Amino acid sequence: MALPVPRPATLLSPVRSPGISIVIPIFNEEAVLPELLQRLGAVFDRQPEIAWTALLVNDGSRDRSAELIREHAARDSRFALIEFSRNFGFQAALAAGLAHAPGEAIVTMDADLQDPPELIPELVAKWRSGAEIVRAVRRSRQESGPRRFGMDLFHRLFGRIADFPIEANTGTFGLMSRSAVNAINRLPERNRFFPGLRSWVGFTTAEVIYDRKERAAGEPQQTLGRLIRYALDGIFSFSYLPLRLLTYTGGAVSTVGFALGCFFIIRRLLGIEVAQTGFTTLVTLVLFLGGVQLIGIGILGEYLARVYDEVKQRPAYLIKRTTGLG
Ligand code: UDP
Ligand code: MG
Repeated sequence: MALPVPRPATLLSPVRSPGISIVIPIFNEEAVLPELLQRLGAVFDRQPEIAWTALLVNDGSRDRSAELIREHAARDSRFALIEFSRNFGFQAALAAGLAHAPGEAIVTMDADLQDPPELIPELVAKWRSGAEIVRAVRRSRQESGPRRFGMDLFHRLFGRIADFPIEANTGTFGLMSRSAVNAINRLPERNRFFPGLRSWVGFTTAEVIYDRKERAAGEPQQTLGRLIRYALDGIFSFSYLPLRLLTYTGGAVSTVGFALGCFFIIRRLLGIEVAQTGFTTLVTLVLFLGGVQLIGIGILGEYLARVYDEVKQRPAYLIKRTTGLG
């Protein structure tokens, strides 16, 4: 006689409202971690009916970040940790978080409290009222100096040239539904530009306006070099304009060359003395065209290197250890 099959324990547990995960990349953030964990906890406590998981991804920090989070996760089961084998970069950390976060909706944010955790309930409310992707839009930015100038310049430029526009004043901070996250997780590319991918997948979108604060403590962990690389990733993976510009420049230069050639041939045939062209003109032209060609090769190289990265199929990150993930 067949015995009744026992039902899995999960089906017996009391009904909870759908879980929400917060994904946060961490790199050398020990200075802000205590405040971050405390403020997240406070937000969670206010809505205890929600099954919260804060999934922090330690991107090879060289300080005590991982220990701090591990200790906290041991005390509070709402916190979980993924540890990379080394520093793989912010985009990789984000990708790992999205791939492992259990929630029905997933919030992505920076660790440095520039993105206030207190805004999370608002993001969740928008999601509850039907939006699949909720973007937090900065009303103001408190960064200043060259960083800000560079970011503004990038956003302006990117808005102009991207084949696929992304909205200005949005960054990592936001919420995505399970289906949107699944869509992003299925995108296999290695040079990831998150804001671009998030608008590429589509879905119903809503916005929440907020004031972006200064980093609460510690130093920016994204070096200028990384930000530039990130900007280039954005441009080269969402625009063919650099390639097209090359074609246009080539077209323009050859047209001018051809016209000049005709001009001199006709003058020769008509017996008009051809003016002695100077050394300066020649040198200038040679150097200029040499430069244009090198830039062209460089641009081709940027695309080629990205193609090469994809072909190599190396994983975007390696996980050393996880804590608190079921
Ligand atoms: N970060 C990371 N890996 C890195 C650099 C940064 O995971 O290699 C994290 C960092 O801990 C923070 C977020 O990415 O949570 C944003 O970094 P940061 O505040 O330094 O950058 P910015 O605000 O200048 O974009
Ligand atoms: Mg920051």
